[in-house]
Amino acid sequence: MVMLFKRSTKPNTRQLKKYNRIVASINALEAKYQAMSDGELQQMTTIFKEQVNKGIKIEKIIPDAFAVVREASKRVLSMRHFDVQLLGGLVLAEGNIAEMPTGEGKTLVSSLSAYVRALEGKGVHIITVNEYLAKRDFDQIGQIHRFLGLTVGLNLPLMLSDEKQQAYQADITYGVGTEFGFDYLRDNMAPTLQEKVQRPYHYAIIDEVDSVLIDEAKTPLIVAGKMKANADLHKIASMLALRFVEDEDYEYDDETKATSLTDKGIEKVEKAFGVDNLYELEHQTLYHYVIMALRARVMFIRDVDYIVKDDKIMLVDMFTGRTLDGRTLSDGLHQALEAKEKVEITEENKAQAQITIQNFFRMYPLLSGMTGTAKTQQTEFREVYGMDVIEVPTNHPKARVDLVDRVFQTTHQKYTIVAEEVAKRHQTGQPVLIGTTSILQSEAVATYLKEKELNFQLLNAKSMNEEVYLISQAGQLNQITVATNMAGRGTDIVLGDGVAELGGLHVIGTEKHENRRIDNQLRGRSGRQGDPGSSQFIIALEDDMFKRFAKEDVEKFEKKMKTDKFGEITNKEIHELTERTQRIVEGSHFSMREYNLKLDDVINEQRKIVYDLRNRVLAGNENFELVQSMVRDAADYVISETLPEHEDIQLIHLAAIKQDLQQLLGETINIPDQLSKRKEIDLAIEPYLESISSFIALSQNDEKVNRTVQLVMQPQIDSMWVKHLESMAHLKEGIGLRSYQQEDPMRIYQKEGLELFAMNFQNLRYLIASEILGFLRNLANQEKG
Ligand code: ADP
Repeated sequence: MVMLFKRSTKPNTRQLKKYNRIVASINALEAKYQAMSDGELQQMTTIFKEQVNKGIKIEKIIPDAFAVVREASKRVLSMRHFDVQLLGGLVLAEGNIAEMPTGEGKTLVSSLSAYVRALEGKGVHIITVNEYLAKRDFDQIGQIHRFLGLTVGLNLPLMLSDEKQQAYQADITYGVGTEFGFDYLRDNMAPTLQEKVQRPYHYAIIDEVDSVLIDEAKTPLIVAGKMKANADLHKIASMLALRFVEDEDYEYDDETKATSLTDKGIEKVEKAFGVDNLYELEHQTLYHYVIMALRARVMFIRDVDYIVKDDKIMLVDMFTGRTLDGRTLSDGLHQALEAKEKVEITEENKAQAQITIQNFFRMYPLLSGMTGTAKTQQTEFREVYGMDVIEVPTNHPKARVDLVDRVFQTTHQKYTIVAEEVAKRHQTGQPVLIGTTSILQSEAVATYLKEKELNFQLLNAKSMNEEVYLISQAGQLNQITVATNMAGRGTDIVLGDGVAELGGLHVIGTEKHENRRIDNQLRGRSGRQGDPGSSQFIIALEDDMFKRFAKEDVEKFEKKMKTDKFGEITNKEIHELTERTQRIVEGSHFSMREYNLKLDDVINEQRKIVYDLRNRVLAGNENFELVQSMVRDAADYVISETLPEHEDIQLIHLAAIKQDLQQLLGETINIPDQLSKRKEIDLAIEPYLESISSFIALSQNDEKVNRTVQLVMQPQIDSMWVKHLESMAHLKEGIGLRSYQQEDPMRIYQKEGLELFAMNFQNLRYLIASEILGFLRNLANQEKG
């Protein structure tokens, strides 16, 4: 059978050709598997697994495996994968991103590559944007895999660790991305290897991949422990921050959200606290409190970013308007907000472990994703994750009409027309969905709709289930729905009876988003699976985007601007201005993500080293070798620290070295007085180190001692890491301060981050060496006595 796809975009043509050939071969196999009994079909899983074990490449198995999955799906779900879905599956199996518009059936697409990669027996993770979808897909799509003899697991927050272990042992595991990341962090805090829940990573499919890797990847995942906050300091800092004047005492960059003190501001802080140099290391804490107070003041707007309820600060998810129960800001920022709102100051969250979503997913050897909107971000996906974005042709040709933007001079004019447009369409019964970028904005829209006495659904701060339900109803006759752009993502909007004849669902965007991709998501709410529909953005020059990113351009433009009596701008150039501004925003956000990722890369390398050491310690079969090498390292460190860099070695240096070594090694050390070279010192202490190595080795067959050694090492490693994370956080804050001195902040961070780590890691090894030596000596003495 020859496939003819309606849409073919140039850059993909070559790949699509290849995929089309494979799709043809899958189609050719349909009859063969259709003729099989259920038992024979299920037997295929065993056969494929054997082939994998024999070393046959997955690519060779794919045509048959896909054909088997399709046949299984027909039998258990009565759904036969469309050819374009097979094609999407091929994209996923190769570790790329399949761009498929809403309604094309991405969920079913994932069943194909999940099956094929699960044959390798190393686990496949399917990442969804929320628990509801994870559960739904586990129940539904999971049936195909269970039928074919694979195990399917569901990983949910709050599950017990044996439940989680079971979920991760499954061939295919569903869950939300953040939970997989948190499990990774918690696994690396587990006291024993048996308590870990995850296996090594193999392959992941990320649904709504742009949401997961880009939109929700702004804040890192942090596992925090509680620590008493310095409430007074928070209060003083908060009062101080209130007195600061923008651009005089501090600078705030709206784009990057960077907040920093000016020289004048620093002077003010120094005066307030009576210190003479805030730059000094010992005053870093003060600086920290002040910056947090300042951020709390300028970055967080009450009733937009958070609300105050029952004397508590509750964070608000900007996209859904829901309060984020139990979520708090870390690093004292939450307490700074509490000081600002004069509510009781709670305990601080101190990071015990953290990772960015990006760096978490980069640990998967093979990563893939699906979304309706990725093309505008393809460079980023390629550069950061090595995934290509492949546009998969649609099953039905798109029938949605995207109308040209309407731009007004003022916000008031904009909302007036939005309400009128809704009223006009509503008269015929056509459903309308109005997308907004924040809760505040949806409330504004609501006010104008009320004035027209229109009945509508406002999707603010609704529970996830309510939201999913209401969004799914947005295509019914007479419905008017106001929702933030991200509300109920992944939910299908099915048209009600007679709605297609009225033109389908009409979508109105009321503000351009920071990204064209998210605008496209909003449009994509309408016109699923070839349904009729339309979309239009109605925006204003007073919108945030223009104010923040195109102030000068707008001023220039206003000189030649023409408007009609409703305030609508009639110059054609307005569309260029809109597009250019949005591209500037996109660029600026991309750079910011790149920058943050680069910062995180510094910690990422260190995390790998520390976690690797921790895992070796927990594995427990080389602890004595580790201690031996740590003792040597510590001795080396002691000598290097004490020796003068340029002067000759003198008696007092030797005496100091002797004392420090004695303290470390716990025995009398003799170093001849006339030594003048480092090499000679090393030679002189070598016999001691060797005897200590043998002493350590004496205990190595004692399981109980080994366990104790483990019990000493592991908390040392953990506490070093927590402290190190805190120093790194302060270093990051501090580089804002230092960028005044004409240094490149990224370079400082990399350089000093490395130094900090070297120092802390060295220290850790020293502490472990001396504590374990002490312990072993005690043990030996007890046995003697
Ligand atoms: P997307 O995530 O791409 O928006 P969904 O996975 O939610 O799409 O699927 C949209 C709808 O189409 C669902 O109701 C799904 O059951 C249905 N569907 C998907 N693929 C098929 C198919 N091959 N045959 C029949 N129905 C399908």
